[in-house]
Amino acid sequence: MIIQRIKFVLSAGILAVSVVCHSSAETKPVITEIEKSVSTVLISIDGLSNEQLRKYKPKNLTELAKTGLSTEALLPVYPTKTFPNHLSIVTGVYPSQHGIIHNKFYDVEKNQVYSMGAAGTDPSWMKAKPIWVLAEEQGVKAASYFWPESDAELFGVRPSYYFPYHHDTPNRERTNQVIKWLELPESQKPKLITTYFSIVDSANHDFGSKSAEAIEAITEVDTIIGEFLTTLAAKNIEINLVIVSDHGMLDIDETIKLDSVIAPEAVAKLDKLVEGQTQIFINHKDCAYLNTVYQQLKNNAQERYEVYLKSEFPLHWQLDKAVSDNYVPDLIVNANPGVIFQTKHYKTAATHGYDLKDTDSMEAIFIANGVNIKHARLKKFQNIHVFALLAELTEVKIDKQPASSNIFKGALK
Ligand SMILES: [Zn+2]
Repeated sequence: MIIQRIKFVLSAGILAVSVVCHSSAETKPVITEIEKSVSTVLISIDGLSNEQLRKYKPKNLTELAKTGLSTEALLPVYPTKTFPNHLSIVTGVYPSQHGIIHNKFYDVEKNQVYSMGAAGTDPSWMKAKPIWVLAEEQGVKAASYFWPESDAELFGVRPSYYFPYHHDTPNRERTNQVIKWLELPESQKPKLITTYFSIVDSANHDFGSKSAEAIEAITEVDTIIGEFLTTLAAKNIEINLVIVSDHGMLDIDETIKLDSVIAPEAVAKLDKLVEGQTQIFINHKDCAYLNTVYQQLKNNAQERYEVYLKSEFPLHWQLDKAVSDNYVPDLIVNANPGVIFQTKHYKTAATHGYDLKDTDSMEAIFIANGVNIKHARLKKFQNIHVFALLAELTEVKIDKQPASSNIFKGALK
């Protein structure tokens, strides 16, 4: 057991000692023990890149990394989009195995397109149990002030405490609620808490990864985390804190209008085309026509993107490990770093979604610090391994751990 219980011993011993008049066994002091467990708080700073952490050195995050557990980089999974990565962090498996393979994708069997948060109305989009579901199943209370799909009833389970996602909820309201949860009586207190900040991601997208606005957003989140920790210290509340981001960020060089590489008439003939900015997913049963489209896309590529039929998908995308083939597209167009596809024009300065092997800018962050966490610097590791750490810190049993999840061995007290 790695959690060291903090024991508050409310003892009648002193009183008993003062009335030592019988030396028999029944005069033993009455001891009441209240065990206080240490909760684990998982924070996501959406879109904070490893490059930005190194370059701008936000005060509190840098200090937490310096005194706690950190890594050269947290490696996101493909595609480096928000929902696939957040869900890999909390399930310990690749997107093809938890089911959310992109922020937007088509399922042939359902004949529906998934969009972010869709598990709220149809939980069957999710094929793997997040850590909070496993926790609740094992009688360990979980709480979430936002995390992708945490407000959905997955596998018949919701966190004991959660909020439906509202983008505009003030960031301090989130951490204030986390403090309130940590102050609950032991029997009601959640042992696993997640929360999430989107302002760094938004500022990056809107103004670019080196913009004053992005730096300001990083400073703001860093300040909020600093205030959160100061408040906890003042209240004498100890936690294990795990801070991650889901992906990095890269400024955009070139925008491709979708109809400039595939004619609208060709799109109309396809079973399905889903434009996902850095990827285009195509489903089409008829191989002959699919090959025609494949060739057309290749001819128009001009080294701005790569085109793959299912049989050519790179192995590290892990799409061959899907629980079912229904949500794996027949063809993927994968944008090269700095390139995006647009079906209709919108203004954006930076993005993510690229294959990590093509650009280090997609690297994310991981910092852990707290009661049970030692000071250590880890080599780069993939975000699917964070799950095993969360399970260990919260004493939640997991069936199978991802290979090499022993990367945290020796890093915990
Ligand atoms: Zn994101």
